[in-house]
Order: sequence, then structure tokens, then C-alpha cells
Amino acid sequence: MQDIQILWEKVLEKMELLVTVVSFDLWIKTIEVLDLKDDKTLVLVATSSFAKNQLVKNHSNQIAECIEQVFGSEIDFEIIDKAEKEEYLKLHKVNNNEIEIKTENPFNEKYTFDNFVVGKSNQFVYAAARSVAETPGEKFNPLFIYGGVGLGKTHILNAIGNFVRQHHPEKKIMYVTCESFTNDYIESLGVSKEKEKATSRFREKYRNLDILMVDDIQFISNKTSTQEEFFHTFNELYQKNKQIILSSDRPPKEISTLEDRLRSRFASGLIQDIQAPDFETKIAILKKKVSQEKYNIDEEVLTFIAERVNTNIREMEGLLSKVYFYATLLGKKCATLDDAKNVFKDEQVTQKEQISPEKIISTVCSYYGTSEAELTGKKRSKEIVEPRMIAIYLINELLDLPLITTGKLFGGRDHTTIIHARDKIYEQLKTNNKIRTIVSEIKNQISSNC
Ligand code: ADP
Ligand code: MG
Repeated sequence: MQDIQILWEKVLEKMELLVTVVSFDLWIKTIEVLDLKDDKTLVLVATSSFAKNQLVKNHSNQIAECIEQVFGSEIDFEIIDKAEKEEYLKLHKVNNNEIEIKTENPFNEKYTFDNFVVGKSNQFVYAAARSVAETPGEKFNPLFIYGGVGLGKTHILNAIGNFVRQHHPEKKIMYVTCESFTNDYIESLGVSKEKEKATSRFREKYRNLDILMVDDIQFISNKTSTQEEFFHTFNELYQKNKQIILSSDRPPKEISTLEDRLRSRFASGLIQDIQAPDFETKIAILKKKVSQEKYNIDEEVLTFIAERVNTNIREMEGLLSKVYFYATLLGKKCATLDDAKNVFKDEQVTQKEQISPEKIISTVCSYYGTSEAELTGKKRSKEIVEPRMIAIYLINELLDLPLITTGKLFGGRDHTTIIHARDKIYEQLKTNNKIRTIVSEIKNQISSNC
């Protein structure tokens, strides 16, 4: 149950940002909330029939919008004036105290701990996430989860959210992507006249939480003022022992252009990686999906898929449903290995069109007439250093791989070496015509081969 008058205050705060000061003082602030009729219509009283007309004519869309944001989409409203109020009171028994709001679950209900298959690759992340969900703010703060695309980061964050909603409904928890945090922040800078209010609203939104989760925080890397704001949000929550959970496709030390002070904040709790699933975990995940979606599929299809998809679980699930729907389209009751093979043939054709690090390395090698072993090996002679740096630069430019992964492709080189090579070529491209020509010829070859 929530207090209607307190909720109405929130509507007023929002309205204040939307209308002029004069309109707000004259028409909006003076509204009285009389009743929640039939538990679904807010009855608002305007000070006079003139005021009522003003509200209906000029502000009803804004009022509707703000009510929806605060009370939810099921709540409607109507406006009456002072004179009509007397009549209304004769006919109705009013309730202007309490409302039961059915707030929508902001978390994906499919992404729960129960639906998360635990294996060697993700057991530590699972344990840490579970512990944070059970006792937020007490251990592992911040919890920083990193891992490649499609390995379950967003799933884990939502699982924490669903768990907290169920077991600690009183806790204020928020999940945002880095992108929406940034957009919110930019919006809060927007209207100059209302700047202060907008900023304080932004702060109130993000700093009055028990748990803040930001997904894909790596995207904050080149946004200086968002970093600044996030730093303060982080500090305030952290000082109040509130839980912060972040996910990223790479560890903090590899997020380039991240301010050092944020980097060290991120590293001050627990940094836990999610690794690529092993074969058994992949099979277990596929089985779970089959039973969840009630797919009728031969077991050998699962093995076939698990053997062919390297790491990305999203891709694996995508293939599984493609095979199932392929079989369904053919009118079959059960998808078989042959269906899987047919689907896979088509997939490989489309996969060819993608640029991979291997493709880049082999193209650079054939351009320079050198071997892959040499290119990725230890030798540091001038003839091999240049193509190696160009390959590293191109991988960075054309693909969004974590530096650590690129380092592994080049014989386990350290990420600082990768950064150095990338930046060196980047600088040379500005001044050195020869390098510019080479890089653009290799790029052409890569794209024409694909
Ligand atoms: P990320 O955010 O790391 O890119 P997601 O969390 O979006 O990855 O996961 C991609 C898909 O794989 C989702 O459908 C998710 O449910 C599924 N998935 C990932 N890991 C697991 C797991 N351990 N058990 C079950 N499903 C998983
Ligand atoms: Mg994600």
C-alpha cells in the first residue's frame, strides 16, 4: 500500500519541470486529490471552474503522463471543480489515503538464478551474485562481473533483481544499462532554467537506492562528464553501504580512457570473470532451454550444436530455436540431426561474411608474405614488428575484442603491448603515407575476402 498524497507530491515534482512557473503556481499546485474512485480513477479538484477549464485545455496530457509515471498506467484521472466537489461527496465514499500499486517487474522474469545453469565457467560469479542478492551491501562491494558477449552477465544481473524483489521487497533496486544512465545524466543537464531541479532529481533517483546495477559499464569509457557523475554516485552509495553491481565485457584495467579513480573504485570490491562454458555446461544450458520452451528435439542435435558454437550462449540458443522452427516449418513433430545440419549449412554461409581476428591475421600475413607463427610469435626484428602492429591495430579497429583476447592471439602478449602497438599505428596513420596505403590495401583485401 502506498500513500496517495505522497505519490501526488511526486506528480507535482514532475509537473513542475513541464510547465511554466506561473501555470504551476496557479493551476497545478492548487489541485486537491479527492478520491481514488473504484481504485482506478484519481478525482482531482480544481480551485474554480475557470481553473478546471485551464487544466483540461492546456495541461491534461502532461498530467496524464506524470500520473502514469508515478501511479502506473492503470490509473486514470478526472478533474472536477470546487462546486462539483460538494455534489461528489454526497454521492461517493472517498478514499484518498491509500493505493495498492501493481508496479511492473522491471527485470526479465526468465532470467532467474533457477534458470541459470552453473558450471565450472561461471560458478564463482554465480556464488558471488547469490551472496550479494541475499545480503546486499555486506560483502563484495562493488561486485564487478566481466566476460565476453553472450556469457550470461545480463542474466545474472536480472537474477539478482528478481531475487531481491522476491526476498527483500522493501529494498530499492535499480538496473540500468550504461547507455540509459548516460542518457539520464545528459537529460538532467538539459533545460537550463530548470537545471538545478533536474540535477537534483537525477541525483535523488540514483543515490536513494539500496542496490544499483549498471550493465555494460565499459561504455562509460569515453564519456568524461558521465564518469565524473558516476564517480559521485558511486561514492555516495558506497559510503552508505549500498550495493553496487557492475558488468563489463572486460576487466577495469582494460577499459581504456577510464579515469584512474574510477578504475580503482571498481577494483576495490570483488572482480569476478565469467568464462566461456565447457562442453558439459553448454549441453546443460541447451537442455534447460529445451524444457523451458518445450521444444521437441533429438538429443544428438544438442551435441551437434554444442560442438559447433564456441562460446556465445546467445548464439547457441539462437541456433537451437532455428533448428526447432526449421523442423516445425517442415511439419515435423521432432527436430533431428539432419535438420540441424541443414540449418548449420545456411549459418556458415552467413558467418563467412563476418570479419574475424583469424581473417585479419591471415590477410596481413599474405600481404607481407610472412607466416602466422612468425606474426604472432616472439621475434622482434623490424620486418615482423610492422605487420604485427598493423594486425593488432586492425583487430582493434575492425572488431570489438577485449585487449586480453587480442593479447592471447599474439602469443599471450600483455594488454599494454597491445595498446602500444595499436596507438603507434594510429599515430603513424596521421603522418606516414606508406603506412596509410598499406593499411587501406589490407583493409580492402579483408573486406573483399569476406
Ligand atoms: P551477456 O549479457 O553476457 O552478453 P546474456 O546474459 O544476455 O549475456 O546471456 C545470453 C543468453 O544466454 C541469455 O538468453 C541467457 O539466458 C543465456 N545464458 C547465459 N548463461 C547462461 C547459463 N549459465 N544458464 C542458462 N542460460 C544462460
Ligand atoms: Mg548483456
